[in-house]
Amino acid sequence: MHEMSLAESVVEILQEEARRQAFARVRAVWLEVGGLSHCDPEALAFCFDVVTRGTLAEGARLELLRPPGQGWCLAYSQAVEVARRGDPCPLCGSYQIQVTGGDEMRIKELEVD
Ligand SMILES: [Zn+2]
Repeated sequence: MHEMSLAESVVEILQEEARRQAFARVRAVWLEVGGLSHCDPEALAFCFDVVTRGTLAEGARLELLRPPGQGWCLAYSQAVEVARRGDPCPLCGSYQIQVTGGDEMRIKELEVD
């Protein structure tokens, strides 16, 4: 399950950050998952709850942010937002779009003790 491995990577990053920044507890996590990456918020919340049990992030609040995907319209040489892979260009309706980003995962902000 994709959300499970996503949640596990988040916990790994949190443990790494805790060592580097010397904090003991994570209260809240703002997680950014690019809009082109499949991610079910409810499934992710459930998985996060499961994998954080017994870790420094047990009981932490997870805030999921979904920035839209980014693309480049080849017809007009302009950066555009891409809601879904395979969608036409929101500016000109052509399918000449190069997807340049939108399936990354990163932790944007942390609230820690
Ligand atoms: Zn276009």
